[in-house]
Amino acid sequence: MERYDIAVIGTGPAGISAAITAKVRNKNIILLGSRELSSKIEKAHAVNNYPGLPNQGGEELKEAFLKHLDSLDISITEEKVNAVYALGEYFVIQGQNGDYEADSVILATGFSVVKPYPGENENLGRGVSYCATCDAAFYRGKTAAVIAFSQKEESEARFLSEIADKVLYFKMYKDDSEGVESSGGVSIQSMPEENIEIITGVKPLSIKKAENTMELETSGGNYTVDGVFILRDTVAPTQLVPGLKVVDNHVETGRDMSTNIKGLFACGDITGAPYQYVKSAGEGNVAALSAVAYLGQRGK
Ligand SMILES: Cc1cc2nc3c(=O)[nH]c(=O)nc-3n(C[C@H](O)[C@H](O)[C@H](O)COP(=O)(O)OP(=O)(O)OC[C@H]3O[C@@H](n4cnc5c(N)ncnc54)[C@H](O)[C@@H]3O)c2cc1C
Repeated sequence: MERYDIAVIGTGPAGISAAITAKVRNKNIILLGSRELSSKIEKAHAVNNYPGLPNQGGEELKEAFLKHLDSLDISITEEKVNAVYALGEYFVIQGQNGDYEADSVILATGFSVVKPYPGENENLGRGVSYCATCDAAFYRGKTAAVIAFSQKEESEARFLSEIADKVLYFKMYKDDSEGVESSGGVSIQSMPEENIEIITGVKPLSIKKAENTMELETSGGNYTVDGVFILRDTVAPTQLVPGLKVVDNHVETGRDMSTNIKGLFACGDITGAPYQYVKSAGEGNVAALSAVAYLGQRGK
């Protein structure tokens, strides 16, 4: 497997800036995220505090970022990362589509206020999963619940339904485009699989482990299933990187954006307020230079 110098996770302003600086410094990098970049870029009506780009709409900013990446031949590997494991000398990054190795990692996955469900953390890997592609095989002939927060998770549910006996699909979002294929996945109308039951208007409340099954408590009653897949856009940093030090839901960093894990740097909203494009981009630059210095100390 190819070992990258630096893996950058996240395609918001922080990750893009980190990738640009690392590439300019001639490092062999992989940028993991989405070619759609960040929904927080697109949503901005008008951005007035980014130097050199006054009064930009979010879409224009996105195009400018993509153009800059293209000009440096930086490609985005479409990937949602589920876990990062620090193995001392290097890191293994577990994505939905495969694993990657890198000597250092820059975490730029943004900040999410999502709180885990009661019982979620305790049962992670013991009936709770964040990745159908990775764990579907455990549910052959069984019943699995999918709590999905965006339309692009529908393809995960379809895949799971090919293996599981039954999929209870808790739809926690409004369709982007009813009945039409969306860029992120397949519309709900094109999930006619008989073994997928779509449940709407119901709020999951907690997850408990029973003897051989899982109890999913919801505002619409309790469901007994064999496993629960929780598919959110953002994974909490402590779930993403076991052992990572977090204070008040933000990754603790030094001024060089280093974390408590050697070789792992964090930047952008994930490190705390102020939540701003230019602060994120600035931290991405610092994180990349620190990663370059870290590699230099190791003779790379
Ligand atoms: C409506 C709105 C308007 C705003 N207007 C302004 C403004 O005018 N000026 C300003 O300075 N700031 C503004 N902001 C704030 C700004 O958007 C954020 O501060 C900035 O986007 C943070 O950048 P980031 O790279 O840290 O994180 P994000 O932009 O959140 O990017 C994180 C990226 O990581 C990806 N990701 C997350 N988890 C994973 C994973 N496990 N694997 C792979 N990828 C993952 C996400 O999909 C996303 O692409 C606005 C925000 C919003 C919502």
